[in-house]
Amino acid sequence: MRTIIEPFRIKMTEPLKLISREERIKALDKAYHNVFLLDAEDCCVDLLTDSGTGAMSVQQWAAMMLGDESYAGSKSWKKFESTIKKITNIKYVLPTHQGRAAESILAQTRITQGDIIPNNNHFDTTRANIEFAGAQAVDLVCDSGLDAKLDIPFKGNMDVKKLEHCITTHGREKIPFCMITVTNNTGGGQPVSLENIRNIKAVLNKFDIPLVIDACRFAENAYFIKEREAGYADRSLLEIAQELFSYADAATMSCKKDGLSNIGGFLICNNEQWAEEFKNALIMREGFPTYGGLAGRDLEAIAVGLMEALELDYQVYRHATVLYLSDRLEKTGIPYVRPAGGHAVFLDAKEFVPHIPQSQYPGIGLVNSIYIEGGVRGVELGSVMFGRIDDSGKETPAALELVRLAFPRRVYTQSHFDYLIEVIEEVWKNRGSISGYQITYQPKYLRHFSCHFKVIR
Ligand SMILES: *Cc1c(COP(=O)(O)O)cnc(C)c1O
Repeated sequence: MRTIIEPFRIKMTEPLKLISREERIKALDKAYHNVFLLDAEDCCVDLLTDSGTGAMSVQQWAAMMLGDESYAGSKSWKKFESTIKKITNIKYVLPTHQGRAAESILAQTRITQGDIIPNNNHFDTTRANIEFAGAQAVDLVCDSGLDAKLDIPFKGNMDVKKLEHCITTHGREKIPFCMITVTNNTGGGQPVSLENIRNIKAVLNKFDIPLVIDACRFAENAYFIKEREAGYADRSLLEIAQELFSYADAATMSCKKDGLSNIGGFLICNNEQWAEEFKNALIMREGFPTYGGLAGRDLEAIAVGLMEALELDYQVYRHATVLYLSDRLEKTGIPYVRPAGGHAVFLDAKEFVPHIPQSQYPGIGLVNSIYIEGGVRGVELGSVMFGRIDDSGKETPAALELVRLAFPRRVYTQSHFDYLIEVIEEVWKNRGSISGYQITYQPKYLRHFSCHFKVIR
């Protein structure tokens, strides 16, 4: 059969309601035109994020009932730890309540003022944690990763020459570790090849710099490697993941992504000294090292979820969903980042609404129009999220102005996607009437979550 079906059926439903267009306009006004400030129940199809929004399997729910809530050394912790060790073969495992807690502990213990941390593209919370610790977060993604139209297999790769240049310019002593984000969320959910990671590792080894993998979507990245990288077609996703982690000295993880869970994360490393410092920070902030801010039942759900994310039929279905949307955009000529990423489709706002200058946040214009048109919530990944503001208040726009439509895992069916396609096509038809925005309030860090906008008429 040609049709790829959802490899699950639905046992429990959650009602969706679609409020009227007038109500949506009112709701967005009340939210200061920032979709992060909307009530979730006013969003009919919520594609704000794939983080923690997935549906758990019967196996995960069943495992949760086995949750051992002992403060120290629980059975659930042992399952969590052994699953992570099986996938990563990394020695020390520290549970955290989500990915950014792992990043925060890493940054606070390993960074000194004035350090430089390279990455393909830092995710927003990673960047914030690194900068808060006094370092500079540098993005070294390959040039093709910045070209939204180029359809090549591994656009998440780091430019190894840029990495070497970065190290020789700043000096090894300024770089306590280098990161690589798989898949590259900020750059459009694009995968990183194992060949690239081996090359990065070779450069880092020359300078004795540890590699930290931001592993949030390690299973999706493993699927792309199986599909696209020569020599991996016959390897299981688990084997590919194991090879990926064999190059890592440490990793941060949000289990809200490829942990297929609604909360959780971890920080892992091979270095005993690092582990000791991580543990001390963890106890102070997150909890005892065998639960780290999570309930025993969460540890259970994650242990099952991490393995389910590596099931081939799940990844095949998930990828088919992404392609279902991107193929339709392709046919209509709607600009999006090619090839489609692993967890989302990214509309190219610069091309979609070329009449809005970057200083007026084209991504926000597009996100808000999509919400008003169909009650669908996406998110801007552009100058609001990644624009740099210097001390004089001058703003440098982001390289790309994207609108991310992230796919919660195992949540929406094909008819939801048909509806979504209709909504986007309607917005595309009327794109000339979309307005730019200006910011009327913003906090110092991670402004996109809470800033206020005003329409520019
Ligand atoms: C989500 C995410 C994080 C942060 O994880 P949280 O669980 O949201 O704190 C870090 N890096 C990447 C690439 C992510 O996608």
